[in-house]
Amino acid sequence: AEETLILVKPDGVARNLTGEILRRVEAKGYRIVDLKLVNADRTLLAEHYAEHEGKPFYEPLLEFMGSGPIVAVRASGNRVIEGFRALAGATDPTTAAPGTIRGDLGRDWGLAVQQNLVHGSDSTLSAERELGLWFA
Ligand code: ATP
Repeated sequence: AEETLILVKPDGVARNLTGEILRRVEAKGYRIVDLKLVNADRTLLAEHYAEHEGKPFYEPLLEFMGSGPIVAVRASGNRVIEGFRALAGATDPTTAAPGTIRGDLGRDWGLAVQQNLVHGSDSTLSAERELGLWFA
């Protein structure tokens, strides 16, 4: 079956929302096939976010993602990449639809980076690349 990388970002872990977030993934019917708590170093984060290098939020983003533990999850199921992105909702938690993880659990905290609780791979190519980075 298809696989994706899900990250519960440091804000999600710090707010004790890991269980609530993974509950939604499992309730939807996806399977968790691997899971770990990671203190990501800068090298890993720079590779993960290589496409954003040079953008104004890049440094704050790496800082934020390195600020505390992350829960990395390998999840599986037919169309799980698309399905998890639908569960997560839009990038901006203020306007993410209610019913989604970001829409129900997130908000704007007035910080330099959108703290939006989760990451999910956005294509089969990025899923393969990102799973290789986080589950080497
Ligand atoms: P999605 O694709 O669902 O929007 P994503 O995590 O893939 O989520 P990206 O556009 O790849 O979003 O951006 C990576 C992360 O960088 C975002 O999740 C968010 O934490 C942060 N970010 C993105 N755009 C901004 C922005 N304009 N200002 C501040 N932070 C941002």
